[in-house]
Amino acid sequence: MNVYLDHNATTHARACAREAALKAIDLSGNASSVHDAGRRAKAVLDRARAQVANLADVGSREVVFTSGGTEANNLALKAFGAMPLLVSAIEHPSVLNVRKDATIIPVGPDGCLNLDALEQLLTGNEVPMLVSVMAANNETGVIQPIEDVVSLARKHGAMVHSDAVQAAGKIGSAWQQADLVTLSGHKLGGIQGAGALIVRKHISLKAVMGGGGQELGMRPGTEALPAIAAFGAAANEAVNDDLAGVASWRDALEHEMLAAAPDAVVLGRESERLANTLCIAHPRIDAETMVMSFDLAGVAVSAGSACSSGKMAASHVAVAMGHDGLARNAVRLSLGWSTTQEDCLRAAAVWKDIVTGFEERHRAA
Ligand code: PLP
Repeated sequence: MNVYLDHNATTHARACAREAALKAIDLSGNASSVHDAGRRAKAVLDRARAQVANLADVGSREVVFTSGGTEANNLALKAFGAMPLLVSAIEHPSVLNVRKDATIIPVGPDGCLNLDALEQLLTGNEVPMLVSVMAANNETGVIQPIEDVVSLARKHGAMVHSDAVQAAGKIGSAWQQADLVTLSGHKLGGIQGAGALIVRKHISLKAVMGGGGQELGMRPGTEALPAIAAFGAAANEAVNDDLAGVASWRDALEHEMLAAAPDAVVLGRESERLANTLCIAHPRIDAETMVMSFDLAGVAVSAGSACSSGKMAASHVAVAMGHDGLARNAVRLSLGWSTTQEDCLRAAAVWKDIVTGFEERHRAA
């Protein structure tokens, strides 16, 4: 039996998303064309825009489609390149690596943003600043205090960008208060290739790429209609997801894993977390060994760290939380809309086999 517990990397396409994408492929019009085929493509685009706007609780004209979360993050940070930038230490690389001039806001051992540090950084600044803090962390699932970030920023005349790629469809509403919000279709049950930057109507944003006037002039280029249609359909379904099952299976999984390895550490355990995410580090088994052992047993999990190049780096999130010694050991199990209780029971059994096998080999050596 193959088990997929890497939904924070990408989640399964929902049936409605697949259907919407296939219909859009068959349309073959360009949404910018004035003829009938173009108008039909535009109708699909408009519908998806309204669906994504509904998820974000904004107006349709505040949704700017991009190729994904990475591009939306880049657009937000580069379009306001002249503003001093503050970013949290636990951001996704598509925020952390965009501007070399960014000042890092630390997080505490609980994985939550240090609000006092943010206030200090904001205080006394004469020019408006841009603050970028994610709504929930992709490795630990720790939910960030966006409401406080927004009110501190407002007090100091700063603007807020929030990467809500992992939070959208799982938690509302604080991230919806940010001035700029990043979303990604394939994390919601769409397909890869579409995301959005929500640009609230009081914000004036100039495109960072040259080209046509698509997306209200903020993001040129022909829209990826099939991926956008899938994004809209998935967003529409995700707003009604019931995460109660996922939450209880994640908690049971965590309980079983800690019972098998009592000295393992769950990162962010004491904080409010997304219901679907579990980041756990075994003190003596590195993440690479763990991910490979899970894989051999037919269970897909990932290293806590981003491993876009296929090789596992130390988790900058674990380091930011002060867990330097565990930064190469953290693995992430992330559940999704298609996860079943059996998947979680299987993952718990595999973890138990891995850790007991490891301890036995060590005792024998
Ligand atoms: N932001 C966060 C928090 C993410 O987890 C990811 C992907 O893992 C991204 C941004 C990038 O999104 P995309 O894969 O759509 O470029």
